[in-house]
Amino acid sequence: MIPGLAGIARDHGTPAYVYALDEIRDRTRSVREALGDRLKLSYAVKANPLPALLRRLPGLVDRLDVSSGGELTLARDLGWDPSLLSFTGPAKREDELRAAVAGVGEVVLESLEEARALDGLDGESPVAVCLRISPDELPKGFGVRMAGRPTRFGFDEADLGDAIRDVRARPGLDLVGFHAYPGTQCLDAGAVAENFAIMADVFRRASETAEIRSPRLIFGAGFGIPYHEGDPDLDLAAAGAGIVRTLDGLRANDRFVGSEMILELGRYLVGEAGVYLTRVVRVKRSRGSDIAICDGGMHHHLAASGKLGSVIPRAYRIEKIEGDLTSEPRPLDLPGPPCTSRDTSGHGVSLPALAAGDLLAVKSSGAYGPTASPIGFIRHPLPKEILVETRAGETEILDVSGGRIP
Ligand SMILES: *Cc1c(COP(=O)(O)O)cnc(C)c1O
Repeated sequence: MIPGLAGIARDHGTPAYVYALDEIRDRTRSVREALGDRLKLSYAVKANPLPALLRRLPGLVDRLDVSSGGELTLARDLGWDPSLLSFTGPAKREDELRAAVAGVGEVVLESLEEARALDGLDGESPVAVCLRISPDELPKGFGVRMAGRPTRFGFDEADLGDAIRDVRARPGLDLVGFHAYPGTQCLDAGAVAENFAIMADVFRRASETAEIRSPRLIFGAGFGIPYHEGDPDLDLAAAGAGIVRTLDGLRANDRFVGSEMILELGRYLVGEAGVYLTRVVRVKRSRGSDIAICDGGMHHHLAASGKLGSVIPRAYRIEKIEGDLTSEPRPLDLPGPPCTSRDTSGHGVSLPALAAGDLLAVKSSGAYGPTASPIGFIRHPLPKEILVETRAGETEILDVSGGRIP
């Protein structure tokens, strides 16, 4: 846990997200180490687009993946070199494609219609594109699955030959490589490694069909993080070892000797570096259950209410960090202020007795927070977002934003 959270809550108020830059830096280092520096790192902006964070990411990650014109503009305005951006997304509008033509590293094509639209823009030079492939196969163990079923994302493996021919025949497009992001939130190192091998194999076949040498290959690897009590950590060393074996096999093939290979990650880099701080406003008992109503809830943190992509809502891990910490933990319900019973954040968590004013920290909250939540719902202020850095046990505040009515 980040040191000094109680003081931060006192000084800046709650609800607040606190993100530890030092933990994000450690994460990027461990990933690079586990991969023996064989892959470049790309960060998926939508996981956490905090400007103060994006500004500090050069040097920690090599590239960014943006999924809208808004994210593209944000990254550029913060000083990111556009050639280091890839642009994914299944419904890019014409204005977004135009913005991309003005310069991104590559547009990741998701459909033939998109290829036609982009080709029709008549830029000065051909636009670099990667084809997004949806493989037929995804191993078990991924919390979110996009492959092997009907999908809006990318080209079905079976349609790849036609897609490659179409794109190669378009003078406005320059096919430079391939992309895949078949699933995410995987905590099983074996499944991560197997999925990586499947992507590599699809990329190899696609590159042969397209007859391109040194294609750029973007692996959306889907590393997961523990959200709930009892979730294991992903065994990064084991996943890395499997990935390295696959990559070394690929590099042994002449076609890939000069390839730029990229690992695209979101939550794994930032998720565990963040907490959501909330205070208890009221406590009550109803029909035998203890209920502590907090100032934070699903309006700021949809994911923690179990309503963002989970089939069975389960509470995030929540720690009490101020108030009586000694009494015996007991089951509690921790809703927030939104007047909807869909806010089930903290349903059935076990914590020492709570009183009004007590401070709680929701863990694993660094990814898919405010920007993935219904922040306008019932017009509470936006949560503060506080970027900090801890050195030798001392936490320094780097940036504070948010806190206003949207
Ligand atoms: C969202 C996204 C990611 C990041 O996903 P995580 O599950 O956060 O790692 C990676 N690639 C693409 C194309 C995405 O849209």
